[in-house]
Amino acid sequence: MTISKRIRTCLLLISSFLAGLVNAQNPSAFYIANEGVMVSDGETKILFDPLFPNTYGQYLLPPEEMKAAIFAGEIPFDGVDAIFISHYHGDHFSPEEIYQLMEAQPGIQLYAPNQAIIAMRSAAGDSGSAVFGRVNSVILAFDDAPVRFTENDLLVEAVRIPHSGYPMRMMDVENIAWRVTLNNNSTVLHLGDADPRDDHFANDAEYWDERTPHMAFPPYWFLSTAAGRDILDNRIKALRNVGVHVPDTIPTDPIQRPPELRGQDIFLTPGETRPIPAN
Ligand SMILES: [Zn+2]
Repeated sequence: MTISKRIRTCLLLISSFLAGLVNAQNPSAFYIANEGVMVSDGETKILFDPLFPNTYGQYLLPPEEMKAAIFAGEIPFDGVDAIFISHYHGDHFSPEEIYQLMEAQPGIQLYAPNQAIIAMRSAAGDSGSAVFGRVNSVILAFDDAPVRFTENDLLVEAVRIPHSGYPMRMMDVENIAWRVTLNNNSTVLHLGDADPRDDHFANDAEYWDERTPHMAFPPYWFLSTAAGRDILDNRIKALRNVGVHVPDTIPTDPIQRPPELRGQDIFLTPGETRPIPAN
């Protein structure tokens, strides 16, 4: 290794260590890829849709270095408390990799729709019983009341919102919107591939009013359509929205984006972060 390479490696280590410190103190969101996001508040850390195998020709995969750090529990992915899966589609969930991660990191709890857990059980074969003690599955139909779990520093709430394409396609997909409050402090909302139709949210108007998120991660079609923006503004009312599931053709330079995405905050580059606003 040359001296300049060594210095560069050293600087990289220092900067990722400092990034880790910052993450540990101020509530923040860290972009993995597609709808993969890490949220941290103090010592509490959660991951949404972190490992998945398919780009479908247009979405980003988690970078290999990031995946290695997730499996090894290295900064910034050290001390992850829980993982949340929105739905069993190849651009959100790998049953094999999430099973391997649960095996590798015995401190992690998993929350996922039953459809995803069934796939994970078959990927695990006969060997998975220890892991499944830390798996929390939700079985929710359309219009079922939201469910709630409390676990250490997490308040977990879940409701099923139909997958985009409703009512023509993907009616069988158990898409879960997870609303998670960390440390009784930061509330975040991950919508999976929710369909942007007000009816789905009007059903549970009180639920949405009860706890407004500090940050929501809507799929980009909520930001690029009037119907989606209405739901974000009038039902969900997060202090800040950061769009996810953005195709890799969308440029980082807002001027070059399609007009409807120019003024929107969206996650585009793995590793970028956003501070989560306080009340
Ligand atoms: Zn999907």
